[in-house]
Amino acid sequence: MKLPPFSIHRPGSVQEASRLLADLADDAAAYCGGTELLLTMKLGLADYAHLVDLKRVAALRGITTERTSLRIGAAITHYELESSPQVRAWCPAFAAMLSEVANIRVRSTGTLGGNLCFADPHSDPATFLIAAGASMLCQMAGDTRRVPASEFVTGPYQTALGPGELLVAVEVPALPVQAGIGHVRMKLHERPTVTVTAMVQLTRGAVSDARLAIGSVSAVPVSADAAALLLGAAAADFDDRAGACAWQAALDAGPLSDGDCSPEYLRHLAYVHSRRALNLAFAAARDAGLW
Ligand SMILES: Cc1cc2nc3c(=O)[nH]c(=O)nc-3n(C[C@H](O)[C@H](O)[C@H](O)COP(=O)(O)OP(=O)(O)OC[C@H]3O[C@@H](n4cnc5c(N)ncnc54)[C@H](O)[C@@H]3O)c2cc1C
Repeated sequence: MKLPPFSIHRPGSVQEASRLLADLADDAAAYCGGTELLLTMKLGLADYAHLVDLKRVAALRGITTERTSLRIGAAITHYELESSPQVRAWCPAFAAMLSEVANIRVRSTGTLGGNLCFADPHSDPATFLIAAGASMLCQMAGDTRRVPASEFVTGPYQTALGPGELLVAVEVPALPVQAGIGHVRMKLHERPTVTVTAMVQLTRGAVSDARLAIGSVSAVPVSADAAALLLGAAAADFDDRAGACAWQAALDAGPLSDGDCSPEYLRHLAYVHSRRALNLAFAAARDAGLW
């Protein structure tokens, strides 16, 4: 496997990067860590004469705590995130999830933006960020727009980004009062076979809000409408209601066969992991109310 020759461009701003990408059109691709793109090119699955390196674009760097959200530059690596005191303080479950992605070599080079923009169906962060209610900040030249995480991945290896548009940052909102997150995943090979994240909020001991996202079992990670079945559930009936919710969500996720697992087995995995993630989120929400 040999990389075909290409030219590297090193823009200093989002405007310059998106202008280059728009001008070079199908001959160019953006890249950050290159862990997906360079492999794809080595395998002969993609061929670009020009690569636009985003690592030096300042707007894509930095982790900033804002009033109601944590802003993470798209070019921040998984390792920088998992080891960041700010990320650990803002959302420990997010840091813990990132520490499970791939291996240390990939996490040290691969970026959050690269993971999301490549839109491999087997992504941990894409699923997590849906349940966390995150938004993607996208920019084309001077125009910026905010895309909910649930609408960012539009198909396998497809996103809501337009030609020349960049993912600049991800905004993770503060977890609501007395809320908890549970993230579970299982992998058979390098990438997750099933990924589930749940968020549960309690008010006076009963569920007042819940979100459930299931990824890796179908073409795109999905936000489960069945999370509404949990509203009003309390400690005594939570596990039963979580079971019903997980079952419906697994059915709705429409698992596809992935070559290793049948759709029926993937549905079973989605059910078991959803129920577990919901119970973890409920327990974390209860703990959050104790202090
Ligand atoms: C062995 C291995 C195991 C892995 N295991 C897991 C796993 O367990 N869980 C998981 O979730 N992921 C896993 N991954 C995926 C890994 O997280 C990604 O490879 C990595 O995050 C990609 O980041 P990158 O910066 O290298 O992307 P690049 O390869 O640089 O870019 C990927 C794509 O995104 C585009 N792009 C990059 N940044 C931007 C931007 N800011 N705006 C617009 N487009 C952009 C590029 O044009 C390219 O198409 C694994 C990968 C490998 C190689």
